[in-house]
Amino acid sequence: MKYAIIGAGPAGIEAASVLAAHGKEVTLFEKAPSPLKNIADKAFLFPNFAPADEMVQTLDKKLQNELITVLYDTEITDLSRVALTGTVESYGDYAATMPQSSFAIPSEWKLTDAKGHTYFANKVLVTTGYTPFDAHRKEELGYGIYKGIHTSIEMEKMIRHKLFFLMIRRPPRRIVFLQCVGSRDEKSGNHYCSKVCCVTAVKQAIEVKKLLPNTDVFVFYMDLRMWGQGFEEMYRQSQETYGVRFVRGRISEASGTFDGRVQIKAEDTLMGLPMKMTTDLLVLMVGMEASEGTRQIGHSCNICGDYGFIHTIDPHLQDNLTSHKDLYAAGTCKRPMSLTDSVNDARAAALAMLDS
Ligand code: SF4
Repeated sequence: MKYAIIGAGPAGIEAASVLAAHGKEVTLFEKAPSPLKNIADKAFLFPNFAPADEMVQTLDKKLQNELITVLYDTEITDLSRVALTGTVESYGDYAATMPQSSFAIPSEWKLTDAKGHTYFANKVLVTTGYTPFDAHRKEELGYGIYKGIHTSIEMEKMIRHKLFFLMIRRPPRRIVFLQCVGSRDEKSGNHYCSKVCCVTAVKQAIEVKKLLPNTDVFVFYMDLRMWGQGFEEMYRQSQETYGVRFVRGRISEASGTFDGRVQIKAEDTLMGLPMKMTTDLLVLMVGMEASEGTRQIGHSCNICGDYGFIHTIDPHLQDNLTSHKDLYAAGTCKRPMSLTDSVNDARAAALAMLDS
């Protein structure tokens, strides 16, 4: 029995290690030249501020298993079902043909990469993950136009590499975080909540205050969704220990000032007052969108759900199963979720693959 996993992120690696622990040979297909692209630049993880490097090293070690093969620079662009006779089977919604007689013939998955190479597997797990929302699409927020406006992904790198001084050439007096950029947003078409950006903003605000205690830190939010264990405590700690200030309101516009700072126009929705503020850095908490790979695989197998994420049979008891036999999905290719949830979901997917 051959197992294939598309995507060598945390979910893909975790699932591969569970399958290998059960004696299964697994091939991981990764389009990047190295694994764990989305967490490689993270500084610390919420809610316990564990260094992200520790997780990267642990997951990296799991790859050092003789039953696991990783093919890098290998982008799977198409998945189809092939009968073991070599005849392409008409399966589900696939636009392929097969003789009626071959319905009873066992089949396997054919994976085709961007260079046209093909691979075969009996069971396939999709862990193609997410991509951060492109902040250029919110042009009123000035990203890519004015200095001092960055995404939360860039902020994570700044914290990790302590780059504040390089970015603005002086210690920042003020840093403002803006929640819900590209999520819960009519204009970008993403009505869903990305689930992790609230807690990430609180985490980054605390990290900034640890590095730069004299910097004023504000967080503009619509709602604060501190849903996980330890998140609410972090939120309290950010105010009581670190003096982070929270403003319920939306920023409608950001622009540059003559001295290289950022001016924001906002509304304090608790006070019902418009306000203006000048800041050295504006951090846009960008949400999660389905990655290109997720959309591609979703379309190629007709398992594309809302907003381009992978659709599973049932969110309660069969959340790793797709409408196709022997095709599974795990992690953020299904919907926004935290790193912890993604890894746990991958374990569940691996067990589902072993079960059936
Ligand atoms: S997690 Fe918070 S910031 Fe992110 S979309 Fe949901 S409410 Fe907005």
